[in-house]
Amino acid sequence: MKNLKKILALALAALCVFAFAACGSKSSLTVEQGKLIMATNATFPPYEFYEGDKIVGIDAEIAGLIADKLGLTLEIADIEFDSIIPGVQSNKYDMGMAGMTVTEERKAMVSFSDSYAKGVQVVIVKEDSAIVSLDDLKGKKIGVQQSTTGDIYASDDFGEENVTKYANGNLAVEGLKGGKVDCVIIDNEPAKAYVKANAGLKILETSYADEDYAISFNKQNTELQEKVNAALKELIADGSVQKIVDKYISAQ
Ligand code: GLN
Repeated sequence: MKNLKKILALALAALCVFAFAACGSKSSLTVEQGKLIMATNATFPPYEFYEGDKIVGIDAEIAGLIADKLGLTLEIADIEFDSIIPGVQSNKYDMGMAGMTVTEERKAMVSFSDSYAKGVQVVIVKEDSAIVSLDDLKGKKIGVQQSTTGDIYASDDFGEENVTKYANGNLAVEGLKGGKVDCVIIDNEPAKAYVKANAGLKILETSYADEDYAISFNKQNTELQEKVNAALKELIADGSVQKIVDKYISAQ
């Protein structure tokens, strides 16, 4: 009888722990209950940019479908690219989605979803530029977006002293147009959008680096990372992601 009581007490205790864990994890799935807060930098067309006062683009639309699948309302926070990873690490935002390249250094700071797109680092120059290949970049003034892979690779390859770091792609391209820098290293799709929007610029034919884009999460929040990743997998498998990509990147 005494033993039975003991077993019952233990079973009850175990049940409580399970119930508590279940409740605990439910309320901590996202920073704010019912919302999925995505941090991005909306100067990165066609992945994220403003149409009027609304942030649209490939990332914004994929995130919208993910939120739907999870029964959450998507909220997009437009911040500096530089602040996305710290914001995810400090649980200010649920996830970072910003055409963000997966790198070993970033993997040490955040966890990533599967990759949903490929990126390529390219070089934008003025149409009449003397720079025709990557070899010509030595000693030239290179504009980049602060803390992006373009910044990291260019600083490594050509020396920090030759690299001007801008807060975003718009400002880097303004720097090139104003003659403050001789070229801008940035991802290929935004590069195409910038060249289209600004007369007198072109993209060098040789690309600089190939990369994979993925969504980033706080390392502690494995539950959200798994749920978002499962939703993303479904959206890739059923062609929804491709449909969004085709809508923004017309086959050229
Ligand atoms: N793909 C680049 C990186 O992750 C640039 C991303 C961006 O500027 N939004 O560093």
